[in-house]
Amino acid sequence: MPDYEAVIGLEVHAQLKTRSKLFCACSTVFGEEPNRNTCPVCAGMPGALPVVNKKAVEYGVKLSQALDCQVNDRSVFARKNYFYPDLPKGYQISQYEHPLAEEGQLEMPVNGSMRQVRIVRIHMEDDAGKSIHGAENTSYVDLNRTGVPLLEIVSGPDIFSPDEAVAYLKSLRNILIYLDICRGNMQEGNFRCDANVSVRPRGRPEYGTRTEVKNMNSFRFVHKALTYEINRQIELLEDGEQVVQETRLFDESSGQTKSMRGKEEAHDYRYFPDPDLVPLSISVRDREEWSRELPELPLSKWRRFLRDYALPEEAADILTGEKDMADYFERVVACFGEPQTVGNWMISEMLRELNEGNISASESPLAPEQLAELLRLIQQEKISSKIAKQIFPEIFARGLDPETYVEEKGYLQITDESRLQEVVREVIAENPDEAASYKQGKKKLMSFFMGQVMKKTQGQANPKLVDQLLRSELGG
Ligand code: ADP
Ligand code: MG
Ligand code: ZN
Repeated sequence: MPDYEAVIGLEVHAQLKTRSKLFCACSTVFGEEPNRNTCPVCAGMPGALPVVNKKAVEYGVKLSQALDCQVNDRSVFARKNYFYPDLPKGYQISQYEHPLAEEGQLEMPVNGSMRQVRIVRIHMEDDAGKSIHGAENTSYVDLNRTGVPLLEIVSGPDIFSPDEAVAYLKSLRNILIYLDICRGNMQEGNFRCDANVSVRPRGRPEYGTRTEVKNMNSFRFVHKALTYEINRQIELLEDGEQVVQETRLFDESSGQTKSMRGKEEAHDYRYFPDPDLVPLSISVRDREEWSRELPELPLSKWRRFLRDYALPEEAADILTGEKDMADYFERVVACFGEPQTVGNWMISEMLRELNEGNISASESPLAPEQLAELLRLIQQEKISSKIAKQIFPEIFARGLDPETYVEEKGYLQITDESRLQEVVREVIAENPDEAASYKQGKKKLMSFFMGQVMKKTQGQANPKLVDQLLRSELGG
């Protein structure tokens, strides 16, 4: 049985976070009353003329630069013609022969090694509206989304597994969020993905026939849909059948992909340059200015975290996986130092609370300075790390000052030697058999005595001191 290799190319549509639409001044706010954010331009009235939104161009150029693309001096808006009720103009304004940018790459770590995926092109286009199908065969059209700016990012066929596809999408989404140009929410539909999939016997240079899979609105569904589609194609080939080039829809409830339309029914979009818009030319000055404004991108940050903070890869992945998390981490380190301790706390205790509350690090009720203070209390042996972990959920949820809290609640470690000595003597007196065994050489019993002292002090005894006291009382 020949061994097969999957080949995947992804087309992502990212909705841009501009305040107004791509070719008119209408608001892009999500969730407004239907058809409120419309005007003659985005409603497709005859004679209304589009004017390109400079902010959208800036965002497109910034993404192109972040993905090492060649930004074209001149790109051309083209009409992509098709009929649909939520498309009042009868065409989408897109870019076809001359896109905004071409030939870039996205570099990302996957399972410990670096992978490069080519970016074939990035172009700008306006979004269509939404059809809402109600009861009793009634359908409604909402044009609020019509004309909202999108970037389409087309990858090369350089992705070879569902895992890699998800890693690519997460990296791309992360870059968009670092650039602060897209909300990156798949459920809300402002980060959407279509996947082109084919399989071929491993080692063969030529590509197999591909299908295009649509309608996946979470990373989990992308993974599921691709896994299903790859297996479906392999089975076809093994049965001596052929893959048919077609568009398929992912069905969430069955986890399968289903044929939507074949090649014969494929749209002929009759692209032609939009006569209402002059070619888009981007000045060197704008390009340089936008390039200077680029923030540190996820991959650079990841490398810097590994290098400067000597973090393990897993911690660097999680911390740079979200910009908020990385910023929070660096603020704690600025107050406290000890990046590895900080990283550890953030990816365990803190992440658990963030996930629980479904919030990002920037929404954390506990300020970075307060987390630094908690870590300082442990460092100064005022509280044990066990106590710190125990009280963390409450301190976190209420944004409490850690020092005041442990003082008020009486959680400070007991370092009073005479008090601890008393407890140690009590414990020995209550356990004469164990004490005798210990003296006869059963040194393992030390942890038993330690446990007893901790129990009596609600875990607040200073372990080092208890250890010393036990040794001197028990002799050796
Ligand atoms: P179209 O014009 O139909 O959109 P493109 O040639 O622009 O087709 O390719 C669209 C996407 O399909 C790209 O992401 C590309 O990498 C991917 N792709 C092309 N050929 C294959 C193939 N044989 N297998 C998997 N993906 C492919
Ligand atoms: Mg395409
Ligand atoms: Zn409008």
